[in-house]
Amino acid sequence: MRPCSRCFNLAEEELCDICRDPRRDAGLIVVVEQPKDLLAFEAGGLTTGVYHVLMGRVSALDGVEPRHLTIDALQKRIADGGVREVVLATNPTLEGDATALYLMEALADSGVTVTRLARGLPPGGQIEHANRSMLEAAFQGRQ
Ligand SMILES: [Zn+2]
Repeated sequence: MRPCSRCFNLAEEELCDICRDPRRDAGLIVVVEQPKDLLAFEAGGLTTGVYHVLMGRVSALDGVEPRHLTIDALQKRIADGGVREVVLATNPTLEGDATALYLMEALADSGVTVTRLARGLPPGGQIEHANRSMLEAAFQGRQ
């Protein structure tokens, strides 16, 4: 397994199964921190969109800065065109929120709609542990 060259999901080939699936909506990118968050969305069958895995979150405590994440690659995907909406699906934690705020500013001039999950998830909770109905409510209520 290796990171997908487009979205950084785990992949057996250059592109992961999701990026290679022509039925997926490449115009909707759900941005998550880790592959396990992507798995939570996939397990719930919540979106036909595609993903972008940041491979972490901004964390002063752990010395993780935006440049350590896959944000450059996300901006490149958007610049390539065809993207309508980016859903920021970072965890509802201080670090997840900080990461989402950074992305909102970084993508402000990108011309795509940037939304965030609704506050359906418990503060401090983790997407990977959210049940399907909570995750669905947060995704459907994104704004
Ligand atoms: Zn992929």
